[in-house]
Amino acid sequence: MLEIKNLHVDLEDEEKSILKGVDLTVEAGKVHAIMGPNGSGKSTLSYVLSGRDGYEVTQGSATLDGVDLLALEPEERAAEGLFLAFQYPVEIPGVGNMTFLRTAVNAQRKARGQEEMSAADFLKEVREKAKTLKIDADMLKRPVNVGFSGGEKKRNEILQMAMLAPKMCILDETDSGLDVDAMKLVAEGVNALRDEGRGFLVITHYQRLLDHIRPDVVHIMSEGRIIKSGGPELALEVEKNGYENLKAEVA
Ligand code: ADP
Ligand code: MG
Ligand code: MG
Repeated sequence: MLEIKNLHVDLEDEEKSILKGVDLTVEAGKVHAIMGPNGSGKSTLSYVLSGRDGYEVTQGSATLDGVDLLALEPEERAAEGLFLAFQYPVEIPGVGNMTFLRTAVNAQRKARGQEEMSAADFLKEVREKAKTLKIDADMLKRPVNVGFSGGEKKRNEILQMAMLAPKMCILDETDSGLDVDAMKLVAEGVNALRDEGRGFLVITHYQRLLDHIRPDVVHIMSEGRIIKSGGPELALEVEKNGYENLKAEVA
């Protein structure tokens, strides 16, 4: 499904190389986790996949079901079924959350040659999904993320994800800044979307999210490369011994 080969990425404005040959394949139906110390390039990987400005791919490729993602505009990548839940969700003053969701859903349907969702169907679906994420009606009416707490923003990202039903979901530190209850809600939201046709890339600093979203594969990223991959036990090992020990062992 998602296939990243030998991906090298530099910052556009500075002579700085951030990703130095990332290889990663996420199969449909699987949850892959990426862990790694601060500054290792985890967010950069997710930004580059989503098509954010400021980065230059100097080598390698990234495809989703064989489609070259790097050749597409961000909105085209989304239409192909890629979704990124940001580490820092953006606030959009003046745009109601519900309006935003409806616009996003219909833009995606249009890009796929499907008809718009009726207002009634949309309302029914959004209310249902919001309820499981404990997002109340008031939060649906307010401007996107404006004045939302950290936990509310992250849950709102999961709501967007649920409404867009992407093929490939990337979650960048969706657990950071969350208390245990909010983290469980986020994890439940993700688990409800697990499906044999859908892949997940869960980027996280801490092992605790992975107690709730059980990954199939865990990768450790360090200095722009994946230095080790394994099963869920790898996350536990890192939590216990730290990244420095693992780096030394791999070296
Ligand atoms: P992580 O998400 O693993 O903490 P990042 O991808 O955010 O790591 O950052 C990787 C490295 O690239 C860091 O050294 C960071 O400072 C640098 N970096 C990323 N984006 C930028 C940018 N736009 N400008 C300057 N430095 C950047
Ligand atoms: Mg970071
Ligand atoms: Mg990051």
